[in-house]
Amino acid sequence: MKFGIYYSYWEQEWSADCLPYIERVAKLGFDVIEIAAHHANNFSQAQLDEIARAAKDNGIAMTAGLGPSADCYLAAPDPAIRKAGRAFFEKTLTNIAKLDVHSIGGALHSYWPVDYNKPIDKQGDWERGVEGIASLADFANDLGINLCIEVLNRFENHVINTAEEGVAFVTEVGKPNVKVMLDTFHMNIEEDSFSAAIRTAGPLLGHFHTGEANRRVPGRGRLPWHEIGTALREIGYTGTVVMEPFVKMGGGIGKDIRVWRDLSDNADQQKMDEDARKSLEFSRFVLEGC
Ligand code: MN
Repeated sequence: MKFGIYYSYWEQEWSADCLPYIERVAKLGFDVIEIAAHHANNFSQAQLDEIARAAKDNGIAMTAGLGPSADCYLAAPDPAIRKAGRAFFEKTLTNIAKLDVHSIGGALHSYWPVDYNKPIDKQGDWERGVEGIASLADFANDLGINLCIEVLNRFENHVINTAEEGVAFVTEVGKPNVKVMLDTFHMNIEEDSFSAAIRTAGPLLGHFHTGEANRRVPGRGRLPWHEIGTALREIGYTGTVVMEPFVKMGGGIGKDIRVWRDLSDNADQQKMDEDARKSLEFSRFVLEGC
């Protein structure tokens, strides 16, 4: 397994620059940094080259996360929004490929966060999502990119809430580079059993996010990490495990993630780094078993 961290841990805005974090996460011992995919669209070619070079120089691989917005996504009932979604994905995938990204994960099949003030059409959104992802898969494959469909909790999305639904969706898509993505924070809300959910995903598991029930760094809460690690090893998971902690209030991130108190014990930057480093050590030990 390879271990990573989503750089938004240190930031308050999704659009924050990822470049300064590449060397930082490398020094903390991570193998991977996860970045906000849409942000790659704001970079010039020179900036993309600089980020790719920094990752290479620091021996860091990059993965991407994405929650498409309501005005451009693949499953929209409005064909104009679907068309904008397709154009957005083609642009975004092309740009992250320049960063040598081979995996993008998130609510790719839908939008995020879902507006529950609007009527919900789960079946229609599912069908349009399958069609949109299936038609995008070959484009992504030509760039060497896997599309990892994240299973989210009910408060953030309505289309796929469990590993079982994730497997059904990805099976219906039927493309080798479209995978299931699980996240322990969401699993804790929706799954009866962590290990059963991981076994359900089995060989279709393409990406794995970790975080405690309150999104603190793994090892600081009560999730059953031994059970999770045993199940990951049992299915022979050799992919990437990215921790996705959110512990600070404020900004667009604090609002979207609903962080209404400081979960970091008022950590300064040095303690934030130290918490991430310790959690990485814990994660390698308990998930990889070494
Ligand atoms: Mn996640």
